[in-house]
This record gives sequence, structure tokens and C-alpha cells, in this order.
Amino acid sequence: MNLELITQLGYVVAAALFIFGLKMLGSPDTARRGNAISSVGMLVAIISALLGQGIVQYEYIIGGMLVGGAIGAIAARSVAMTAMPEMVALFNGFGGAASLLVGWSALAPDAGAFTLTTIMFSILIGGVTLTGSLIAYGKLSETISGAAMTFGGQKIVNSLIVIGVLVSAFMFINNPNDPNWLYAVIGLSLLFGIMAVIPIGGADMPVVISLLNSYSGLAACAAGFAVDNNALIVAGSLVGASGIILTQIMCKAMNRSLTNVLFSGFQSVSTTVTEVEGEIKPISVDDAYYVLEAATNVAIIPGYGMAVAQAQHVVKELMELLENNGCEVNYGIHPVAGRMPGHMNVLLAEADVPYDQLLEMDEINPRMESVDVAIVIGANDVVNPAAREVESSPIYGMPVINVADAKTVFVLKRSMASGFAGIENPLFYKDNTRMLFGDAKESIGGLVREFS
Ligand code: NDP
Repeated sequence: MNLELITQLGYVVAAALFIFGLKMLGSPDTARRGNAISSVGMLVAIISALLGQGIVQYEYIIGGMLVGGAIGAIAARSVAMTAMPEMVALFNGFGGAASLLVGWSALAPDAGAFTLTTIMFSILIGGVTLTGSLIAYGKLSETISGAAMTFGGQKIVNSLIVIGVLVSAFMFINNPNDPNWLYAVIGLSLLFGIMAVIPIGGADMPVVISLLNSYSGLAACAAGFAVDNNALIVAGSLVGASGIILTQIMCKAMNRSLTNVLFSGFQSVSTTVTEVEGEIKPISVDDAYYVLEAATNVAIIPGYGMAVAQAQHVVKELMELLENNGCEVNYGIHPVAGRMPGHMNVLLAEADVPYDQLLEMDEINPRMESVDVAIVIGANDVVNPAAREVESSPIYGMPVINVADAKTVFVLKRSMASGFAGIENPLFYKDNTRMLFGDAKESIGGLVREFS
């Protein structure tokens, strides 16, 4: 068998492993294995590529793999769970940069119009992904302001950049010997990435990151065509398609359209004041314990604060103590709780909470009336009844977990500070709500001590 055939077979195996791996990521039970299988797929793809593509020098490639692998491993271990979205943004950006460079390096004097077109796509999308992701990273990590940066005529300027980049790409395809058009495509793509993301506020960055993730896949796919590599085409398409599906899911959970996220103004952290009635009723750990001790049905609704407090393990302990006390315990998981899709599922899986106890919003809401105590742990926006009750609220229409329907609600947070959307939460003032102030891990730890 010749090397070329082995390479192509390797790519088929890699593609199959990617697809199986992706499928297995759909359930937490199989997700780890799915991740491992996809990684093996990538290894097979890399080895196949190294076998067949007329490699000139292995030293640089191996050196690059060692340095890149080491940086990746260190970053993955050292980055806090709460900073994961930023890290994903950065990785997307690097993916875009890689596609830009691969496309650029694929330029050959004898390249035909089709190859030149795919090269232009990989440079264009790769460039936009690179700078767009860096801005998204900056906004999420608060290295730059998360506010939407807008100015008069912004849409016109952006349209001119897009026209400029398309014209330059067209000109380069027709005059491949004039590098100035190529430099124009690179420069304008990089500029457009910045211009497209600055008008979007920090609150919408996770959606933007998911979209940029999809772009990084498309860029890789275009680069795959440019260098005639089937594995890259398949992997890029999978990333492109799954990224866009995830983007849609996130928009739906926030009751927003993608156009609305990308082009409208709500995204900047809003400071709308909602008129609220009622008063705050704090509760102590001791008193909360007595209520929980008598409860037979408890729903736990985790949010971003559980991730900040890293309270998932102690939450699991409390769950076990409640169950030993004859109480039924379920978790209500909102699709955008936390700061990235599946954030709560990942944390609770880390603490070995059985997956069948995690109920999606649509499952838990109809059961809420029979719940004795709903314990809201560091969640705010995803349980904000203003989304249903206050038409002027920026989150009006976003589906939320209706904790106020439970007989009693405990809200665990440190202060009266607002959540990500920056708005008042009328839940805290409801008659059946009690505020258990403090760090979530400490408050739950206190309850665990009372029980045991
Ligand atoms: P929120 O950001 O609304 O609220 C988190 C709350 O946690 C805060 O009010 C904070 O209050 C509290 N908190 C922080 N640290 C602690 C701590 N150590 N102990 C106890 N409480 C703490 O979170 P939600 O999960 O309810 O909502 C997620 C938000 O993120 C939504 O607005 C959603 O649209 C947005 N978003 C999420 C995405 C995703 O993919 N998950 C994507 C896009 C947007 P205090 O400071 O008083 O303690």
C-alpha cells in the first residue's frame, strides 16, 4: 500500500472518530469518553498528515507540537473554571490565526482560481476570527471595557470594510502576482474582526464566542480546501456546524435572535431600575436548617455564584443529607446559568451528582408548585421573575426557572448585588423568599454541619 493511500485511510478513520466523539459529547455519561475518542481521532489525523504530505523537516513540527502541547496542558490545568469562556475565546482566536497562516503559506505561483479563492476564504475568516476572539477575550476578562462601543456611522464603516475586503480578494485572485491586494485582504480582515465585536457588550460575549468558534471551523475548512487536506475539511465542517447550532441554542435560551445579539443595543450591561415591592427577609443558617429538616421535596437551582464559590461538592453533601432525611432532591438547570453552556452540568458532574436528578427548566417548572423549598445557589438572572412580569425589563421574555412558585425560596448570595444583566430581581422581595447571605460554600457548609 502506498503512503498516500494510508494517509487517506487515516483521514477516514479520524473523521469517523471525530463524529463518534461528537455524538458521545451529547450526554455527560459518555462525554469524557467522547472527548478522548475525538482526541485519538486528532492524533490519527496528525500522524496520517505527517506520513503523506511530503514533509520537508520534522524537527520544526515536533518542536512546535511539544511547545504548543505544553502550553495547552499548562493552560488547561491552571485556568479557573470561571475563566473557561475566556480561554475558549483565546483558543478560537489561535485557530483563526492558524487558518490564516495555513492559507497564506499555501500560496503557490501556479495556484488556480479555485485554490486562490479557498485561500482568500481561509485568510479572511481566519483573520476575522483572530481579532474578533481577542476582543471577546479582552471584554470577558475585563482587560478592556465590556461596554458596547458604538459611534455614528459605524454600520457604514463596517459595510465599507466588508466591501473593501471582498474587492481586494477578488483583485488578488485575478492578479496573484500583486501582493498588495493580499496584504489588503489580511489587514482589512483583521480590522473587521475588531470592528464587528466592539459594538457588542460583554453580556453577549459567550454567544459571540460560540459564533467565532463556528467561524474558526469554517476557516479551517477553507484552509483544508486550500492545502487539499480532507481531515481538515471534515474537522472544520464539524466545528463550523456544531458552533452554529450551539449559537442558536444559546440565543433561544435568552429569547434573542442572532441578529439582535450582533446588531442591537441591549447587550451593554443594563442598569434599568425595576420598581419592586416588598421587603428583604434575611434568614440564618440555623433557621434555614429547621425549614429544610421538615421539607420532603427540595429543588436546587444553581447559578454562576455556585461556580465562583466552588460549592458543588458541599452541595452534593447537603443533597445526600437531605435524601437520608427522606427528602426528594432535584436540580433545576437553566440553559444559560453560569457563564458558558453546560456550566452547571459540568460542575455538578465533577461532584458526582447523578445526572437523572438534573432537570431542565421545562421539566422542573411544572413541578415547582409541589416543591417545599427551592434553594437558589448563586443564581440571579435565571430565576428573575421580571422576565415574566415586567414588560420594560431588558430580560423580558427570557424563559426563567419559576422558583417563586415553590412554597419557600432560599436565595444564597453574598449581597444584594445584581447578576450579569445588571438588573434588580423582584424575587428577593417576595413573601415566600428568604435571603441567606454569605458565600455559597460557607452557607451550605453551615447547613451540612447542622444536619450532621
Ligand atoms: P448571574 O450572573 O445572574 O448571578 C450570579 C449571582 O451569584 C450574583 O447575583 C452574585 O451575587 C452571586 N454570587 C457570586 N459569587 C457568589 C458566591 N461566592 N457565593 C454566593 N453567591 C455568589 O448568574 P445566573 O447563573 O443566574 O445567570 C447567568 C447570566 O449569564 C444570565 O444573564 C445569562 O444570560 C448570562 N449568560 C450566560 C451564558 C451561558 O452560556 N451560561 C451565555 C450568555 C450569557 P452576590 O455578588 O451578591 O454574591
